[in-house]
Amino acid sequence: MTVTVAQLVNWVSLFRDRIAEQEAYLTELDSAIGDADHGGNMARGTAAAASKVAVACAEPVEATVDAFGKTVGMALVSTVGGASGPLYGTFFLRFGAAGVGLTELDDAQLGAALRAGLDGIVARGKAEAGDKTMLDAMIPAVDAFDASVAEPVEARLADAAAAARAGSDATEPLVARKGRASYLGERSAGHIDPGSVSTAILFETLATATRSVTEAA
Ligand code: ADP
Ligand code: MG
Repeated sequence: MTVTVAQLVNWVSLFRDRIAEQEAYLTELDSAIGDADHGGNMARGTAAAASKVAVACAEPVEATVDAFGKTVGMALVSTVGGASGPLYGTFFLRFGAAGVGLTELDDAQLGAALRAGLDGIVARGKAEAGDKTMLDAMIPAVDAFDASVAEPVEARLADAAAAARAGSDATEPLVARKGRASYLGERSAGHIDPGSVSTAILFETLATATRSVTEAA
């Protein structure tokens, strides 16, 4: 089973749609422990990314994974002022760089691209597991994908999405050690981290994008 660039483009479009639906919730979470802009940042960034990549990777041109990642990543970096723009931008740039010249990804290549994206966020933001950031959703998601290697890719992505959501929920009691929420110290406990929720949506929409095309095929 492979994931095509068309499916990846659909992923970003679904990501934009779900972020738009959840924009008010993401902003509410960020108003508790940040500056109340995560919903707006993500809505603006994913709208720009989805429209740019739909043009750049439109058929019949055979678009590559690196062109996909570069277009999405640059759109996020250039339209989002907050911390999340460069971090998600780096995720997509590194995801794409793991698939240079490829027009589809097999399971192992998809896993490597997700891991490269995650490593890019770590390198850029210097956060670790337990710091109450998007990594608390992303690290368990990528680990879950890698752990279920014998399963079909749809099941592995469903596992990854469930792990991301569970990781996000588990940020609630944590004290933030990175990002704007860390300025609150102990007062950051008792709220879910907004970036972990957008990351749960990122993995949920990846699972959906892959499943819908598989069902159609
Ligand atoms: P800002 O914090 O600049 O207002 P956003 O509100 O859009 O930007 O994004 C905040 C989210 O970014 C946080 O909820 C957290 O998940 C994530 N974040 C912040 N700093 C880091 C970091 N160093 N590493 C990983 N994620 C981070
Ligand atoms: Mg913010």
